[in-house]
Amino acid sequence: MKNIQQEVNDFLHRSMDSHVRIAVTGLSRAGKTAFITSLVNQLLHTSTHSQLPLLSASRDKRLVGAKREPQSNMMVPRFAYDEAMQQLQGEQPNWPEPTRDVSEIRLALKYKPSKKTKRLFGNTATLNLDIIDYPGEWLLDLPLLDMDFSAWCQSQFSALKGLRLELAKPWLEQLETLDLSAEVSESQLASIAQTYTQYLHDCKDNGLHWVQPGRFVLPGELEGAPVLQFFPCRFDADVKADKHSNLAMLKARYHEYQTKVVKAFYKHHFATFDRQIVLVDCLQPLNAGYESFMDMRNALEQIMHSFRYGRSSLLKRLFAPRIDKILFAATKADHITPDQHPNLVSLLQQMVHPAWQTASFENIEMSCISMASIQATQTGFINQGEQSIPAIQGTTMNDQAITVYPGEVPRKLPSASYWQQKGFEFTAFKPLVTHQDEPLPHIRIDKALELLIGDKLK
Ligand code: GDP
Repeated sequence: MKNIQQEVNDFLHRSMDSHVRIAVTGLSRAGKTAFITSLVNQLLHTSTHSQLPLLSASRDKRLVGAKREPQSNMMVPRFAYDEAMQQLQGEQPNWPEPTRDVSEIRLALKYKPSKKTKRLFGNTATLNLDIIDYPGEWLLDLPLLDMDFSAWCQSQFSALKGLRLELAKPWLEQLETLDLSAEVSESQLASIAQTYTQYLHDCKDNGLHWVQPGRFVLPGELEGAPVLQFFPCRFDADVKADKHSNLAMLKARYHEYQTKVVKAFYKHHFATFDRQIVLVDCLQPLNAGYESFMDMRNALEQIMHSFRYGRSSLLKRLFAPRIDKILFAATKADHITPDQHPNLVSLLQQMVHPAWQTASFENIEMSCISMASIQATQTGFINQGEQSIPAIQGTTMNDQAITVYPGEVPRKLPSASYWQQKGFEFTAFKPLVTHQDEPLPHIRIDKALELLIGDKLK
């Protein structure tokens, strides 16, 4: 039986910084799965290894150890950590399956507090850390809450320019065949919605990141559901649609999407996050070209709207937001030589700072870093005549061992001419072979941890 002292202690622990929910997001392939897998792996090794010098609790030898705990939210799938580790530590190491839906994992971190107030309750304390993974594309849907179907359709058509317009052709052609005032045809709507969804996938495959509705490309458990079967169309907003028409059905589904999908995500998930890390792969658009780069910047700016809690903000009307820290992290820094890491951070800052400075991010602390969740290359030098230049060494996805200098990362947002002159070239690498009892190799994941939970481990 628990004695009274124990009960009092439990109560006080609960009310004293002993639980934090960290959300991890980023556009698809930004590196969320790799990040969470590595983060969990690093923390699980803290009792036996000292591989996190930038996390002060670990450096000061105050972090005693970590263990996995059953998550408290039973309605959310478990983050597939064991499956990810099996992939990474198989005979042929491979990258784990990327994020497709929301998932969660809980760790209990045992540490020796340095704060006097916490030390009153014993030599060690426990921090329950929930890590929640969700696709950044879902945050692109926030503006939908403020637009009716007609306004959303207009915004979609006005975005159809350049590559987007090209990719939209099959969908636009099929749209011509639809009579909006005719009696609803489920099968025709499903078929056009499928072509529209394919168009959104084609945008992503061609390096364009701003896609709406975000769930169409990452539907999670809603795959195939009618609530994901609508699409923009042209119609006269002043004419009332017959309630059995195709148009009325499209409007109804859009409304359902707004309330049951978008709003529900913000209320049931987003509202519970204490801190957020946004992962950004700046290297992919550097590889892909100007349009892709600008599009990613636009998508990031859209994502940041979810953290703007100005007085009249949409989210403040829905719930009381509680995120107090956001960390932006440029991922996959092992793709470039260490001398380029400061440029990568500077580029990321250029992408997020302007939007940050002009908007009201009330009481939110923001920082930017570069890191590699799972380091897949080794660094060294290549000799070129008299000169020795920095290089990275790794195994490509086709099993070729290579040593390269991938290029310079621009410090500032590049202009279109950057891609005409030289651009940037990076190759995808296979994960390095690691032993099961060793933590995964990383670059600065400990810095990310310090910024996210360092203060909670004091
Ligand atoms: P998600 O869609 O955000 O979950 O993205 P993933 O975590 O699945 O990462 C997508 C891909 O990026 C992986 O399959 C790897 O090829 C690559 N990747 C992610 N993190 C790293 C990293 O730290 N280093 C390297 N070299 N590649 C990475």
